[in-house]
Amino acid sequence: MLEVGPRKLSPQAPLVLFGGTFDPVHRAHISAARAVSKVLHGAPVHLLPNAVPPHRPQPMADGEQRLAMLRLACKRYPELVVDDWELRQDGPSYSLNTLRHFRQQNPGRPLVFMIGADSFNSLHLWHQWQDYTTLCHLAVVPRPDCALAPDQVQAAFPESDAEQLMRQPFGLRLMLKRPFLDVSATAIREALEKKGDCPALDPAVSAHIRRQHLYNVATLNSSTNHEAP
Ligand code: ATP
Repeated sequence: MLEVGPRKLSPQAPLVLFGGTFDPVHRAHISAARAVSKVLHGAPVHLLPNAVPPHRPQPMADGEQRLAMLRLACKRYPELVVDDWELRQDGPSYSLNTLRHFRQQNPGRPLVFMIGADSFNSLHLWHQWQDYTTLCHLAVVPRPDCALAPDQVQAAFPESDAEQLMRQPFGLRLMLKRPFLDVSATAIREALEKKGDCPALDPAVSAHIRRQHLYNVATLNSSTNHEAP
């Protein structure tokens, strides 16, 4: 039996993978991961910071720092598992490789790849995205100002409810209604540089950033304005 926190889960309980840059991890990441776990009856969610994101500029904080911030942010939540698997791989962090690895380790188990609505909208631009349909389910978290995904992407993953999704290993799509948070790491990095803090960060993550002088907060002096953005 797999045991996660206080709950006992069957060996076929879903496994949720949440990849991202997490530069830094913020309130929307944590709320979204907890929401997906909850709707899937307490399934563990692995948060996997990427090493070399293929589709975007490279992160400002290195892998060890992003891992450290994730550990601080996830500390209180036993259902959230910080996983350094992608950081230990060479080359670009293609989600496809991660999914293949976890599928191989968990044959027959429902595998759920969770993404924000912005990522879902651009899934058709990802490396071999059609292969995802035979590897995992999707759990899509809403995000403000996101257009609908193209029809071909929606059709490739038929929408389902959580109960149906937990009965098969891959191929379905769960659409969450919340959390719906207007938070992004980009805006947080800007707020950190200007003001030295941001309310969308876990206080422990915020303290870590200031202690380690990440995201250019080092340029601020002791009279820094810590007001919210
Ligand atoms: P950046 O602003 O640097 O692009 P981000 O805030 O989008 O960062 P990422 O680490 O790139 O964060 O995102 C990891 C995953 O979390 C992606 O699937 C993304 O869509 C999702 N995500 C990030 N922020 C939100 C949010 N506010 N609501 C829903 N999903 C989100």
